[in-house]
Amino acid sequence: MKKKGLLIVISGPSGAGKGTICKEWLRRHPNAVLSVSATTRPPRPAEKDGINYFFKAQDEFERMIEENEFLEYAKVYDNYYGTPRKFVQQQLMEGRDVILEIDIQGALKVKERFDKGVFIFIVPPNMEELKRRIVQRGTEQPEVVLKRFTSAFEEINFIKRYNYVVVNDKIEEAVHKIEAIVLAEKCRVDRNKPLIMQLQGEI
Ligand code: 5GP
Repeated sequence: MKKKGLLIVISGPSGAGKGTICKEWLRRHPNAVLSVSATTRPPRPAEKDGINYFFKAQDEFERMIEENEFLEYAKVYDNYYGTPRKFVQQQLMEGRDVILEIDIQGALKVKERFDKGVFIFIVPPNMEELKRRIVQRGTEQPEVVLKRFTSAFEEINFIKRYNYVVVNDKIEEAVHKIEAIVLAEKCRVDRNKPLIMQLQGEI
């Protein structure tokens, strides 16, 4: 039987660098896939439908909710975001690690339903740096920047519901830490029952 992939859930405040970490992860780990979420948020200038998100109208998103097409969904900063269920299940079954880069509400919903996932919270080295990164990105209106920065303070209170916290100061080091986490998770006894049973059968 093929070993199932690992579900890796990455959250953290806007500007913590989740997107960059995930991109670097995919570059280094060809066996991993990123789940592309659906959203009702309008695309940013460089974003492409089907690559960054599946951009949906509100009524289409609500139809998907009714038809139970999401593993989780949440309203984040006035827009809907959701993880398509089928893709995630299929990829895990085929042995690929799946990365979900989702907000805290979504991550906690996934944790209730699928506690075999690994839940990682990315934080900036300090809050000043976080603000600098959100402003520097320059894709949001000033009121959106303020909203995201204020939310960051509330979001950090949820760290204790996660399994791991990773400081993203240097991207290289942050990715390295996540590699260590994923490797250790894959060696856990409770994730290797078939191997252990096989060894016991040989005794
Ligand atoms: P952004 O608008 O900057 O792309 O994303 C805003 C927030 O929504 C980020 O915290 C991002 O992680 C989160 N997000 C993206 N996709 C999903 C999703 O499918 N579900 C949930 N719950 N959050 C998501």
